[in-house]
Amino acid sequence: MQDDTYWNKSAETLTREGIEELQTRLLKSSLGRASRSKFYAERFKTIGLDPELVSSLEDFHRIPFTVKKDLRQSYPYGLLCEPKDRILRMHSSSGTTGQAIAVFYTKADLELWADLLARCMYMAGARPSDTFQNLSGYGLFTGGLGFQYGAERLGMLTIPSGAGNSRRQIQIMRDFSTSVIHIIPSFLLLLMDVLKEMQVDPQKELSLKIAFVGAEPYSQEVRKRLESFYGIKVYNSFGLSEMNGPGVAFECPHQNGMHIWEDAYIVEIIDPETLQTVPDGQYGELVMTTLQREAMPVLRYRTGDLTRILPGECGCGRVHKRIDRIQGRTDDMFIIKGVNIFPMQVEQVLMNIPEVGNNYVILLTKEHDIDNMVVRVEMTDSVFVEDMRVLERVRKRITHDLKNELLVTPRVELVEPNSLPRSEGKATRLIDQRMI
Ligand code: ADP
Ligand code: ZN
Repeated sequence: MQDDTYWNKSAETLTREGIEELQTRLLKSSLGRASRSKFYAERFKTIGLDPELVSSLEDFHRIPFTVKKDLRQSYPYGLLCEPKDRILRMHSSSGTTGQAIAVFYTKADLELWADLLARCMYMAGARPSDTFQNLSGYGLFTGGLGFQYGAERLGMLTIPSGAGNSRRQIQIMRDFSTSVIHIIPSFLLLLMDVLKEMQVDPQKELSLKIAFVGAEPYSQEVRKRLESFYGIKVYNSFGLSEMNGPGVAFECPHQNGMHIWEDAYIVEIIDPETLQTVPDGQYGELVMTTLQREAMPVLRYRTGDLTRILPGECGCGRVHKRIDRIQGRTDDMFIIKGVNIFPMQVEQVLMNIPEVGNNYVILLTKEHDIDNMVVRVEMTDSVFVEDMRVLERVRKRITHDLKNELLVTPRVELVEPNSLPRSEGKATRLIDQRMI
């Protein structure tokens, strides 16, 4: 099936007409399957929709959105469409934003998921001759087993090193000449400090070539820092448990937006206020529909993730739509002094300033009924030993650049390298103490 460029040539070289024809066909069967779940059976009945009569992508827009609350309320089995003896696996979202939800997979679902991930990794240049180390939590989190089976499907020697154990991770990379990794951005940033402590030069003493980095938002500036420090290519990897897990959208070698595999998903971007579809190029909330999943089809799911469809064609020739880097989740947005802000805007500013280290936190407090925004920023080692005047100059520059971007003036506090709490899991960038 694969040649030198494509893992799945027939799927990756589909034309726009081919994709639409395929989607219409798959949608019909997906709706039919969905109606076997308690949740969608009730929903279709309420809106008077007969899945048999859906014959175009336009009809599909009559289906109401599915939201996270629906999945939570249907926990554990309300969305299951197959008898339990056909189900092989259960995963669960990591519960970053509240009660967890459960996702189920049949044998065919697991096959498809592994295949989509292999397709993503192959597209970026991973090959069977590579050694792949998965620095991701195993267990309920989809990033562990998802990548494990995807990498094995591709044919790589796959090391399930899991999350944490920074020094041991580096030792494994050295001992086995790891060339491809999967890791979340905050952990890859943290490993920069660990490598410095261990006095290991990643460009000379490691064999890294490619990192698949995702599971939480990070800016283009952080990508650049990671690429130049490690001397590797960092590819953005996107997924969510509700849509299988990782493997939903990945960057190709052009690193300009992530292709969503439209033979497996229908993608829409809506205005989260009006719920209307927005034109390509405009930011909004990502909405996704599974087309091939058996155990648990999910229709028009509001992911809460903010992005846009990049207009135009990708240089790689694949016509599968590309989404831009995720700006954050709708519920990450905070309002201060009447202005809407996303943590990612702060990160973009900070990471463009060379004196700024790799860790920061935004703290929102209330003092005498007035909202206050404090940005605590770690400096690099070299700056922190310099004199106070240098530090004050850096502090002023950060304040000035943040004010320009955010239109409010935060209080900027510079702190020593490695002094902010850090985790080997998803990072907490925002602490809102205003309600306490
Ligand atoms: P949880 O919602 O509990 O974190 P998941 O592990 O399913 O559970 O995480 C999926 C979410 O992680 C996505 O909806 C998105 O918000 C975030 N995410 C995943 N990959 C990326 C990425 N490459 N960039 C930004 N955010 C991402
Ligand atoms: Zn491309």
